[in-house]
Amino acid sequence: MKKRNMAEPLRLTAKSASPGIASGPAFLAEELKAPSAPERPGADPQPQTAGGYGALEKAIDISIGELERLAEGADAESRDIIDFQIEVLRDPSIAEATGARTEADENVVFAWVATLDAYIGELETADEEPMRARAVDILDIKNRVLGALAGTPTADFPPGSVFVGKDMEPSRFLAHDWSKGGGIALFSGSTAGHVALLARAKSVPMVVGTGRFSAEDGDPVRVDGDAGAVVLQAGRMLIPPMVPARSATSDMQSESGDLRTADGVPILISININDPAEIAALDPATAGIGLMRSEFSVTSIADAANEERQLAIYRRVLEQADDRPVIIRMLDIGGDKPLAGLENLPGVASGLRGIRLLLARPEIARVQARALLRAAVFGRLSVMLPMVTLPEEIDRMRELFREEAEKLGRRALLHRMPPIGMMVEVPAAALMLDTFGSAAFFSFGTNDLTQYLAASARDDIDADAGKAAPAVLRLIAQAVKLAAGKPVSICGDMAGDPSCLPGLLAAGLRHFSVAPGRRPAIRSAIIGLNADGTRAAGE
Ligand code: PEP
Ligand code: MG
Repeated sequence: MKKRNMAEPLRLTAKSASPGIASGPAFLAEELKAPSAPERPGADPQPQTAGGYGALEKAIDISIGELERLAEGADAESRDIIDFQIEVLRDPSIAEATGARTEADENVVFAWVATLDAYIGELETADEEPMRARAVDILDIKNRVLGALAGTPTADFPPGSVFVGKDMEPSRFLAHDWSKGGGIALFSGSTAGHVALLARAKSVPMVVGTGRFSAEDGDPVRVDGDAGAVVLQAGRMLIPPMVPARSATSDMQSESGDLRTADGVPILISININDPAEIAALDPATAGIGLMRSEFSVTSIADAANEERQLAIYRRVLEQADDRPVIIRMLDIGGDKPLAGLENLPGVASGLRGIRLLLARPEIARVQARALLRAAVFGRLSVMLPMVTLPEEIDRMRELFREEAEKLGRRALLHRMPPIGMMVEVPAAALMLDTFGSAAFFSFGTNDLTQYLAASARDDIDADAGKAAPAVLRLIAQAVKLAAGKPVSICGDMAGDPSCLPGLLAAGLRHFSVAPGRRPAIRSAIIGLNADGTRAAGE
């Protein structure tokens, strides 16, 4: 698709779903927006217990109550849609299918989500358009219930704006204040869909089937529901459905930065973030996000089962990072990092952690993989796997990503396969790094590497792990040689300790990802050192 002249407005032909003309700032709502204030772990007591059957039933009851309130005062058509949604929430066959999954050891929340996802998938691929149009009604209730489970309500959008997205959930339409005008432009959607029906009943101009186009929040958009068209501000364009994959090497190594050792070797400093809000520390001197610990954003079963919420969080981080690379680590849960509500499941109770837990409970990994695949379209994402011990673990996770990408493709959801790399934090992996052919990159996690190498529990304040530093450094130096030229970095706490820098430079490391507060100390230490870790003359 060729780029357009900036002065020329773009007119896209679409199908009219509801007549009338509306102009207003675009509200890009392809995915649910992230909550405005990111929740901190433990901020809300509800998610801590949100994994059980009782909690899910309660969330379903809350959602039914909300829908019943929406139905009060709604017109007949709106009530029909809401009644259908309530019927699905009460449908005994959904409860039965969920029950069958839980008997096969699935957590009840994931079992319920998977049952609804299967239903959504069937509807999306149905031959008849009215059936396809119902998929969004089910997606809507899934998100509503997961929101109730986690205590996060569905976000509304500013009155008077033009809603732009792949599809729209009926409850969003019903909860929105249309008295200030506004319209709807959907990339796909259906003229027979429930929202189209509601839009016609409320005289909200709406078009469907525009195809994907790029626009920014706030861009002026005109929806012409009479002629079936959308007119966009100059300079926007249609975007192709698939975005080509980026190579791991270009993502990890293209930032030269302007930091160099005393003898002129370029060094990258990235930051580690635990909370998406910490991205504010990403200033121009920072190469990117070297580690985002996703377990601090996904803190309950409800979050772990909520693809849209995860997508919104990852997307926000990627968009804020702009064109800088972002490495998001998949959930490192289990062991001393529990996920509320999951404790008693087989596999989890046995003490599995990191990738082994994700492979033992693939329902968790599949939701996160889909959210990451979809988020990858919005920036330079790489995905990192935690606590990898064996090459086959990477191969199995890559396969899971391929399967989920295929499913997203069948549902025509935009996605991209990100480079998939690994933490090097288990000594057995560090010693055998040359056998991890399918890892796109490596990042040393010295917190766990030290604890497993030196038998010094990381939460034991009496353990003097520092004394084991020479052994850790020797292991890293060996492993860097085994990495055979693949991108290598370090994101464990050792990277933020200036006294370890000479050893880490001597081991061949050139990319350091540190807590934002450690960056100034590391920058100034690097300037005084040569690339082989020796002190620069005059220092
Ligand atoms: C590490 O182990 O060094 C690491 C960066 O991971 P975490 O601290 O999250 O376990
Ligand atoms: Mg670790």
